[in-house]
Parts: sequence; C-alpha cells; structure tokens
Amino acid sequence: MVSSDKQPNFYDVIVVGGGNAALCAALTAREEGASVLLLERSPEDERGGNSSFTEGLMRFVYSGKDDIVALSPDLTPDELASDFGAYTEEKFFDDMARVTQNRTDPDLCEILVKQSNATMHWMRRQGVRFLPQFGRQAFKVGGKFTFWGGATLAAVGGGRGLVDQLYRAAEKAGVHIRYNAWVKDLIASDKGVTGVVATLDHVTQEIAAHGVVLACGGFEANAAWRARHLGPGWDLAKVRGSKYNCGDGLDMALRIGAQPAGHWSGCHAVGWERYADDFGSFATMDDYERDNYPFSIMVNSEGKRFLDEGADIRNYTYAKYGRIILQQPDQFAWQIFDSSVTHLLRPEYRARRVTKVVANSIEELADKLDDVNRETLLKTIKEYNASITRDVPFNPNVKDGRKAQGLAIPKSNWAVALENPPFEAYAVTCGITFTFGGLKVTTEAQVLDTSHRPIAGLFTAGEMLGGLFYFNYPGATGLTSGAVFGRVAGRSAAQAASAAKKVGNVA
Ligand SMILES: Cc1cc2nc3c(=O)[nH]c(=O)nc-3n(C[C@H](O)[C@H](O)[C@H](O)COP(=O)(O)OP(=O)(O)OC[C@H]3O[C@@H](n4cnc5c(N)ncnc54)[C@H](O)[C@@H]3O)c2cc1C
Repeated sequence: MVSSDKQPNFYDVIVVGGGNAALCAALTAREEGASVLLLERSPEDERGGNSSFTEGLMRFVYSGKDDIVALSPDLTPDELASDFGAYTEEKFFDDMARVTQNRTDPDLCEILVKQSNATMHWMRRQGVRFLPQFGRQAFKVGGKFTFWGGATLAAVGGGRGLVDQLYRAAEKAGVHIRYNAWVKDLIASDKGVTGVVATLDHVTQEIAAHGVVLACGGFEANAAWRARHLGPGWDLAKVRGSKYNCGDGLDMALRIGAQPAGHWSGCHAVGWERYADDFGSFATMDDYERDNYPFSIMVNSEGKRFLDEGADIRNYTYAKYGRIILQQPDQFAWQIFDSSVTHLLRPEYRARRVTKVVANSIEELADKLDDVNRETLLKTIKEYNASITRDVPFNPNVKDGRKAQGLAIPKSNWAVALENPPFEAYAVTCGITFTFGGLKVTTEAQVLDTSHRPIAGLFTAGEMLGGLFYFNYPGATGLTSGAVFGRVAGRSAAQAASAAKKVGNVA
C-alpha cells in the first residue's frame, strides 16, 4: 500500500473499486505499461466487495476433462475419475439467451463467452488456483461425481481466496492500492473524464488520470435506490454481500451524461435465511443460502405453493426466485423437505443461524408453522403428494422428469412426496445479490453517453456494465463477466492513456 504523502496526484489509469472486476482491470492496465491507482472504498479487512462473498465459482467454456486438468492440475486419481462433461460456446450462448429471454446484448455476450476460457488461464497466471466444486456442482452417482451445471471450477479459498490472490498479484505488479478511498465524483470536461474526486482517509482530494475504470458495483446495498428502481418492497430485501455497493459509480457516471443500459428494474435475488442480517458479513457468509429448494415444496403464509421449485436445476432458477419470494404476503416462504432427500441438503442447512422446524407428521408440521394457514397447507401437501409421477425415478443430477402434475402450479422435476417423517422446513425471505442495471458500453468497455457517443477516458466493468443480464442469470457468470470485461476495460484505459501521452496531453 502506498502512503498518502508518497502518492502522486496523477496516474495513467485510476480504477474505482476493489473487487474482481477492478483487480482484473488494474492488473491488465499494468500489463499494458500504465501507472495504475486502485481506490477501494472499504477498509482493508473488508476489501473485495461482493467478489469476496462468492464461492469463487466461475462459468467458462471447456471441452472436457483435459481443459479442467489444465486449470486444476493437482487432482487425485479418484477426482480425475469424475464426469466433468463439457461446456461448449453454444451451450453458454444458449444459457445466456434463454435465461435473459433473448435480451442479452449479443456483442457483449459474444465477448463474455469467447474470452471466458482464455481469461481463466490468465487468472491462473496471476496465481489464482482452481478446483472442481465436488458436492456443490456435482452429486455422486454410482460412486462417481457427475457435474451438471456448466459451473465446474471455483477459486481455491472461495471468493476471499480469489480476491486475496489478485491483490497479491496487483501489489507485486506495482498497482498502487488505497483503502478507505471513497470515490465521490468524476472530474469531467469537454475533453472527457480526467480524474476523480475521492475522500481518502477522510480527506477529500482530486486525483488526475488519462483513463478511469469504474468497477465499483451496482446499487444493491442502497435501500432507497432499490425501492426507486426495483420497486416497492425491495427496500426490505436482505443484502447478501458488500454494504459498500451503493450505486456511487452509476450515479457519478449518469451525472455526466452516461447512458443507462440493461435491466434497471431487475436484479439477482435468491431465497435467503428469513432472519439474516441486513448486510453480508464474513462471519455469516456461509450460513444463509437455502439453495436446495428444487427438492422441496415452497409454501407461503397462505399455505400455497407459488412457483415451480423444479423448473430447472438450481443454477438456472435460484437468481430469479428471490423476487418471487419477495412478492409473497409478508415476504417469506417455507421450504419443506421429506426425510428421503435431507441428506442432499448443503451444509449451510445445518448451520447455527437457521430458522428450522422439524416435525414427525404433516399435522405436527402444520401446527408448528404457525405463521402459515393450516387448512390450506394440509390441502396443498395432500394434493401435491397425490399428483406425483411415481413411476419416474428420482435423480438429483439431471432434470429427472419426476413431476407433480395437474396442479395450478406444477413441479416439473424432483417431485418427492412428503410422506416420510421427520419433515424439515426452513424459512426464507429475499436476499439480493446484485443489480442488473448498468452503463451502456462499446465492445471496448468504453462508456457511451446518452447521445450514443463514447465518453473519452471512461470505462466500466463488472456489475456496472449494463446489458448482459435480464430477468435471470446463469449461476457463476458474475465473476467471469467481471474478469473478462475488467481485462477489456483495463486494456482500453491503458491504451487511451498511451494515446493521450503521445499527443502530449498530460492529465
Ligand atoms: C453471497 C454472494 C455469492 C456469490 N457467488 C458467486 C459465485 O460463486 N460466482 C459468481 O460468478 N458470482 C457470484 N456472485 C456475484 C458476484 O459477486 C458479482 O457478480 C461480482 O463479484 C461482481 O464483481 P465486481 O467487481 O463488479 O463488484 P464487487 O466485487 O462488489 O466490487 C465492487 C467494489 O467497489 C467498491 N466500491 C463501491 N463504491 C465505491 C466508491 N464510491 N469508491 C470506491 N470503491 C467503491 C466496493 O467496496 C467493492 O470493493 C455472488 C455474490 C454474492 C453477494
């Protein structure tokens, strides 16, 4: 870290933010020869934004086991016997198109998909180590792990491991890093963006640069902006990750005429422990996820099911179901599991901070769920149990086609009757992950203004980049997007700096 008295007051490139996208931008700008300052709003022990709250799971294109081994060379013979499948460019495109209802920006999506594999290798060269997510992205069938979701590798040490390694690489590469560095504004003129106004350790100052990369997250941690853009009730959502992503970067860019893009009323939001803290913290980050709902039925306070829990595998539904839970009366739901599937529940269901009810009969369960309409709940379970295609075997690894049919709301896969006690129920509410609304960019990650002209000196990446995600999101794409476009933005900003220096334009 550079102390304030030694810090120059201009750089080739300033990167605003300190998560995955910012670090990838800073490292790439350094590779291009630029002097780089990275400004992270949080204190050092909270650095890394949402990226540090992740599992470090990354979706990328790979053609089979050899590709996995190239990125994760230390697998044991047992691990190598796993079925890793393949994740082709076509599949990644299809997933992005399908879950975004064909709205994803095709040019940006192409960059994301086509550069995903090379970016993973670049991250590995920065020292990030990857391992397959046995257990979370694969279940054991016949003694062998079978991966199912296109999201196979995660950084060793999860999000914190990923972020720590990128910080180590950035320090080694000579990126100047300041913590407690809250960027409040852009310095902009007819020439474009030429720096930032930032409060560093409570002292507000101007720092000049030839290029600024905004990689400081969405507005998920700002209750007022959530209510304004996502709609009524969203102020009450729990924030899963960083409390620092309050929309500052979006705000300062919009103030100088940047063009909003993407799904500003959309976000990634999941079913989350009902009584979770209001913001994420490293102490509780592993405890609040409740992602095994495909094997449950979910009921609201009226005792009714309200979505198809088994519409698809978790990776393709979890990010949109938080919104539906938020829309239920009193904004909560119960996930109810039969004892025949509770061995499949992730470890967080056994964590300390969990709102859980166990019952030895359905009647006892209905008594214990005293915030749910008893009669309707009993009717819902009876009808559900009677509607299951029992001749189809249950298989957690594939969309097994074991349905609950003929109901107002079907369950398309993994329909397990609630008939083997003890039954377990878990209370969830909506946890917001990140917002989808961002800034319009060129394929070089340069921000456009509302006249559709590039703003000189301004680039963006990560959650702030608009146009990739709409309605929903294929799990594990956020880190990949941040890394891919962080690199694009870092390179573009360094090139802009180099061009500015050639014409003698000293910031
Ligand atoms: C609980 C959780 C689990 C997740 N799991 C995964 C996963 O496994 N895989 C995956 O791909 N995605 C996952 N995601 C999504 C992923 O975290 C994001 O898509 C991605 O990390 C965004 O990266 P980013 O760099 O854009 O933002 P962030 O990592 O949030 O970084 C933004 C940074 O900007 C800083 N900042 C904010 N305002 C300012 C300001 N005014 N001045 C200076 N700095 C500022 C913040 O402190 C922060 O460091 C998860 C998210 C959460 C919350």
